[in-house]
Amino acid sequence: MTRDTLDAAAIAAHRAGLAAALDAGRAVLADGGSAIDAVTVAVSALEDDPHFNAGRGAVFTYHGTNELDAAVMDGQTRRAGAVAGVTRTRNPVQLARTVMEAGPHVFLSGAGAEDFARDHGIAPVDPAWFATPERLRQLEELKAHPQAWFDADMKYGTVGAVARDAAGHVAAATSTGGLTGKRWGRIGDSPLIGAGTYADDRAGAVSCTGSGEQFIRAGAAHEICARMRLTGDSADRAARAVLGEIGAMGGVGGVIVVTPTGETSMAFTTPGMFRARADSTGAHEVAIFGDG
Ligand code: ASP
Repeated sequence: MTRDTLDAAAIAAHRAGLAAALDAGRAVLADGGSAIDAVTVAVSALEDDPHFNAGRGAVFTYHGTNELDAAVMDGQTRRAGAVAGVTRTRNPVQLARTVMEAGPHVFLSGAGAEDFARDHGIAPVDPAWFATPERLRQLEELKAHPQAWFDADMKYGTVGAVARDAAGHVAAATSTGGLTGKRWGRIGDSPLIGAGTYADDRAGAVSCTGSGEQFIRAGAAHEICARMRLTGDSADRAARAVLGEIGAMGGVGGVIVVTPTGETSMAFTTPGMFRARADSTGAHEVAIFGDG
């Protein structure tokens, strides 16, 4: 993602979507709401925004479907919920949250996850809800130029949120369509607790985006938390160390981190990362590229 690959309209649309999600999450926290509610609300907003690779606007699989993955984790209790490969749930993050709350499981997949959704009052949507012409164009372009498999512009765009609430608890949520042209039931790091998503009040909350295979191998989100908890690394130092390990494995991407004291990091090794941050002092930041 560079200033050459995103035109002014796309930049404006992404910035507006980021600001809307940020403000939705911030409103929850300003009202005294919990971190887990704030991340669920923020990620739901991004899922409904067709510009991001999650929910509506998710990338297409090789066979022209949309298969969605999502996870949530509450740092206070270390309870977590996740779903993979769902095709009929409008807001996968809310289904992940229901998995977390309705127990006893952490991670459900495919048709079973969708049965669980129905059993818990989440109505299915027509899969056409997720499809956008731009994502279909990207799939066609990828199929026409197989070397584009490694084009980060086409691959990434997962959404995530981390939050710290007034009580000092943290939470993380991540949602994605995965990779354009994925097949064979491929699942990335996003819904894997410890890889793309993790939260622990003893360390912080982390949500990741990037080349999922390397994030899985690094146990990225948990590793960042472990560094903060066991070595005393700052959020930024821990994030950069783990992104360095991922780089050594041939992976790129970015992470967002918040700690129970409100320290944050938004580190990335790609040219840009859609990101936004706000706090109770009035700080409010929306950025895309390395320089803003
Ligand atoms: N990490 C996601 C995955 O591998 C992709 C992304 O971040 O956009 O599924």
